[in-house]
Amino acid sequence: MALLEVNNLKTHFHTAKGIVPAVDGVDFSVSQGETLGLVGESGCGKSVTALSIMGLVPSPPGKVTGKILFDGRDVLSLSEKEMRRLRGNEMAMIFQEPMSALNPVLTIGEQIAEAIRLHQDIEGRDLEERTIDMMQLVGISMPEKRFRDYPHQLSGGMRQRVLIAMALSCNPKLLFADEPSTALDVTIQAQILELLKQLRTDIDTAIVLISHDLGVIAEMADRVIVMYAGKFVEEASVNDLFHNPLHPYTEGLLLSVPRLDKPVKRLRPITGSVPDLLDLPAGCSFHPRCSYAKDICRQQSPILKSLGAGRRVSCWLR
Ligand code: SF4
Repeated sequence: MALLEVNNLKTHFHTAKGIVPAVDGVDFSVSQGETLGLVGESGCGKSVTALSIMGLVPSPPGKVTGKILFDGRDVLSLSEKEMRRLRGNEMAMIFQEPMSALNPVLTIGEQIAEAIRLHQDIEGRDLEERTIDMMQLVGISMPEKRFRDYPHQLSGGMRQRVLIAMALSCNPKLLFADEPSTALDVTIQAQILELLKQLRTDIDTAIVLISHDLGVIAEMADRVIVMYAGKFVEEASVNDLFHNPLHPYTEGLLLSVPRLDKPVKRLRPITGSVPDLLDLPAGCSFHPRCSYAKDICRQQSPILKSLGAGRRVSCWLR
């Protein structure tokens, strides 16, 4: 049985200007220990998908519907208290901007210790020792000394490690990592990704890795889902997606980034921009930017078809 099973998830925001379908009927599953990459341009609904599963979408204006089964439990029917417990103990999330997620007036040791204390019944010296172990686990050097540092005294990479330590303090079965390395420079980015890989091996956590960066996805994920304008447009193993993309949007994403595994060609950014979710084009949402678009694409929305072997695509060409 999958650890996470999501069916027909819709997250719509009711605003003064109309209903924004940020996530519009997505289905997927995640197995224990697997890393699923969720990729797409900013605003396509990747983060909202994760926040919806974590129960962190403010309501109103947000409304989440569909079915989310986590380890056999129906997440959308849980009370706020049960949801908090689930979030604290079994699911966790790390965000892109480590500085804004940390409390500037508490030391990092206090913040990691507090996260551990919420999940484990330990205090005093034991708590301090456990905190130092966690700091060591995520590669914070000289943890006894760093324990008393404040967030502003740390580099961006170290702050991200602090957040990862806090997220892992409950040994989550599922970790959402939302652009975990985007705000960091390239070397530190590689270290954080290496750390996540190591943790996946060490504690068998399933990871949903959200990124606009195909390089990061290629490096980390087993399977990838491509999202566009609130919908899934393609799903495949990393290998299939990178070597044989079936959706024109995926093809466009791949042509717009440099590839180490292919001869150097001129990069071709996708023309146009992401559509306004309040005013989506009729038919396939991607049609104004798609060089393969034909009449039916402008009239009817394609459905996400299963092609077998874990591949799904929504395009009239397939
Ligand atoms: Fe392009 Fe049509 Fe496929 Fe949409 S359905 S991606 S417009 S070919």
